[in-house]
Amino acid sequence: MCLVAPSPLHGNRRWESLTPGAWKILDALGLGTALAHAHCLPSHAATVSWGGREVNRAGHAEITFLIDRARFDACLMDAARRRGVRLLTPAVASQPQKIGGTWLLPVTTSQTTVSLCAAHVIDASGRKALTGSRRRRLSPATLALCARWRGQPAPPGMTTIEATAESWLWSASFADGAHYAAVFVDPRSLRAAGVEPTAAFLEAVGGSSSRWEGALASSVTACDASAIRIARAPGFEDIIAAGEAALSLDPLSSQGIQRALVDGQQSAIVVNTLIVHPERRDIAVAFHAERQGESSRRDGAMCHGLYREQAITYRSPFWSRYCEQGAPPEHKLPSPIPIDSLLPETGLRLSPRARLEDVAVIDSDVIALAPALVHPDLDRPVAFLAGRSIGSLLARAISGVTAASLFDGWQADSLPEGTALELLQWFWQRGLLVDNSATDAS
Ligand SMILES: Cc1cc2nc3c(=O)[nH]c(=O)nc-3n(C[C@H](O)[C@H](O)[C@H](O)COP(=O)(O)OP(=O)(O)OC[C@H]3O[C@@H](n4cnc5c(N)ncnc54)[C@H](O)[C@@H]3O)c2cc1C
Repeated sequence: MCLVAPSPLHGNRRWESLTPGAWKILDALGLGTALAHAHCLPSHAATVSWGGREVNRAGHAEITFLIDRARFDACLMDAARRRGVRLLTPAVASQPQKIGGTWLLPVTTSQTTVSLCAAHVIDASGRKALTGSRRRRLSPATLALCARWRGQPAPPGMTTIEATAESWLWSASFADGAHYAAVFVDPRSLRAAGVEPTAAFLEAVGGSSSRWEGALASSVTACDASAIRIARAPGFEDIIAAGEAALSLDPLSSQGIQRALVDGQQSAIVVNTLIVHPERRDIAVAFHAERQGESSRRDGAMCHGLYREQAITYRSPFWSRYCEQGAPPEHKLPSPIPIDSLLPETGLRLSPRARLEDVAVIDSDVIALAPALVHPDLDRPVAFLAGRSIGSLLARAISGVTAASLFDGWQADSLPEGTALELLQWFWQRGLLVDNSATDAS
């Protein structure tokens, strides 16, 4: 395996927040220690001024980390090297070419240009999307203006999110009294007014609360921060694209790194499937596309709700852009069925609206087909619960079984009592297992 990358320590330096979910992924991969060298700063407190309200969150149960992205990326590259990945860095790849069944990837280092031969290529080049073409915007165009800022001292590791009339801002504070700030603005209104990035940054900061009084401590850098999906360019449909080379989430969700980590893992599993089980190509590729679509829908729905909340407070052109977009279809869950209507002697069977169907899932390090429960009120098919396959959990319910017998069967199959009870409640309250004696219409 070979990784081609420019040096992360050159170019613009950005501070970002690492969600507890991203940290858990890194920890599970045994990469938690990589963070110890990555200049990461635990963030226990946040102030959020949004939708006309200010919320101060202190002492989160789960810690968010502030990371210097360049150092973080360098630590991850180092961890990859120690695990046997061949690293070509600093180096830049150009568009690959397929000759026969092999990709030829031109790579330019400081000394030379070489051509790498590879059976499979993962494009993880971020928004530049080396093999991408058509870009579909998923939210209004957003430009990020980032800079270091010297302002009023704040506790180190404290983050602030603040919505103003024509922008929103994210900042983090450090022990030396400096802040790092990112201001998110509408690039079209900047262009129309002929405003330069530095002036726009200062204007946005000036329009915010007094916590932002102070002065610039670096130049202002600008980069696209719109949520977008990128399709593969003609001829590159076989390339697996991971992270922002395929999908950029809205920065408001702060989920970009977590999403890129998940997608990176899934991409590796998809490529491994293509190597080990080439006959599963279609299901592996469809699995990957479906997961990316799912992330995009979930993130879009969450951010749309937050933007609308803000748009009600500030009826400015910046915020009303978010209301012009149609709301993503809402997946409303029906009210749960009361649990006290489930008795040990209640006869259970699978709901007539549910079915077991083979879907693509991750099975260790490959994509495989496994039975999953499909129901209109589930936002996705469920193949595993409590570490068990849904097929094995529901085998006895297909032909009808009492709640007590199903519960005992799960326990006999080594499921802890509490877990068995939770599962029974979950299936019942969501109407996935129904009373055998009830008519289908009811
Ligand atoms: C202003 C801003 C603030 C953000 N804040 C947060 C945050 O707080 N938390 C969060 O989770 N997310 C945040 N995000 C999103 C997050 O940065 C991205 O989602 C994440 O970095 C995506 O990871 P990636 O690996 O797909 O792409 P990238 O991190 O962009 O990595 C792509 C890599 O590919 C390299 N590359 C590009 N072209 C080539 C080439 N031709 N050859 C070789 N290498 C190449 C690049 O140098 C880069 O190292 C923010 C985004 C923006 C714009």
